[in-house]
Order: sequence, then C-alpha cells, then structure tokens
Amino acid sequence: RCSAITDLPESSPLVLLGDSGVGKSCIVLRFVRGQFDPTSKVTVGASFLSQTVALQDSTTVKFEIWDTAGQERYAALAPLYYRGAAVAVVVYDITSPESFTKAYWVKELQKHGSPDIVMALVGNKADLQEKREVPVQVSRYILDNLFLLIAYFIFHCITFPFPFMNDGIDYAEKNGMFFIETSAKTADNINQLFEEIAKRLPRPSP
Ligand code: GDP
Ligand code: MG
Repeated sequence: RCSAITDLPESSPLVLLGDSGVGKSCIVLRFVRGQFDPTSKVTVGASFLSQTVALQDSTTVKFEIWDTAGQERYAALAPLYYRGAAVAVVVYDITSPESFTKAYWVKELQKHGSPDIVMALVGNKADLQEKREVPVQVSRYILDNLFLLIAYFIFHCITFPFPFMNDGIDYAEKNGMFFIETSAKTADNINQLFEEIAKRLPRPSP
C-alpha cells in the first residue's frame, strides 16, 4: 500500500517561458519571497523554487516553479521545458513588442503540447505605463490573427486603439488560457496570477 505517498500534498510543476529580460525570474522572486531586486542577474542554468497557494475553499496548491534560462532564444525547445508541466506561464514585457511576438510563437506550440496543461499569458512590467507598447486589447485580439500580429509588429510605434478590439475575441479565454498583466516591481497582480492558475488546475477527485 502506498497511502503514505498519496497523503503527501501533490505539487504542480510550473514552467516559465518567454523572452529573456521580460521579468520571469523577478515574478518568481516576488511570488516566493515577496522581494524585487532591480539589479538581479540573468538566470544561470535553471532555478527551482516552490510555493504554496491557499484557496478560498481552504484547499492548497503547491507549485514547483521551474525558472529557465537560455530557452528564450529557442522557442522550438519550449516543449522540452513544458513536457510534464501542469502549468506553463508565458511572459512578455508590455514595453517590448518583440517579446510579445515571441510569446505568440511559444503559445503556438501549445497546440502540440499536453491538452491538460493550464496556460497563462502574462504581460509583465505593467508599472511602466508610460513606456507601454503593447496595449491590453492588442494582446487579447491580435494573438488570434497572424496577419494583424505582423502588421502590429511592423507598425508598433502606432498604438492603435481599434474600437473593435474592445469587444474583440478574447483569444486567451477561447483557448483555455487566461490573460493578466503584472508588475514584479510593485507586486501588482502577482499573487492573483498564481491564485488564478491554482483555481484552474484539475482537482484530484476526493
Ligand atoms: P528574465 O530574463 O525573464 O528572467 O528577466 P528578469 O527577471 O531577470 O528581469 C529582467 C529585467 O527586468 C531586470 O532588470 C528587472 O529588474 C526588470 N523587471 C522585471 N520585472 C519588472 C517589472 O515588473 N517592472 C519593471 N519596471 N522592471 C522589471
Ligand atoms: Mg531569468
């Protein structure tokens, strides 16, 4: 019998994906230690941390967080990182259209990944509103349309608040992902990000 093992709290492997410099390590540090270090160094190798989230219904979810380095440049390798992961968090920087475009390619790979994986699309550095180059509506609508994405990337200097985008298709929702903007610097929405993920994880039946 393995009852002792089944009694252990199960933990959910979570992997962070996204371009270098978007703030993946800072998000983890904020979530796990409640800190922000503006002088933080580039992640060497992969780092591993764990943190538990308590939900409203008094259940808890323990995350095993894999913060990777080096994968950013090779989107094709992303499946290696999220194979076996229960959660993939795809991060871009709201001041960097380039990082957003890369988030798109990582997200594309989801179609070939595990169907059960919980995915979150995160626009980080939301404190830098004055430098914002990726509007919220763009992140929600354009992801569904490669042509618009390319057009947007070429003309990203124009912030286009297309009126139709406001009620545009919510790509993230439609694909079982969710979208949130965070700031590791101010801690805005960091806990909410992990709580939302925890809520979406499939529950072991009692
Ligand atoms: P990673 O390569 O994705 O792990 O990115 P890091 O976590 O190392 O962060 C890269 C840079 O962005 C660092 O200089 C951080 O100080 C900065 N940074 C990260 N998150 C935020 C944020 O929410 N707001 C601001 N203003 N800067 C951030
Ligand atoms: Mg890092």
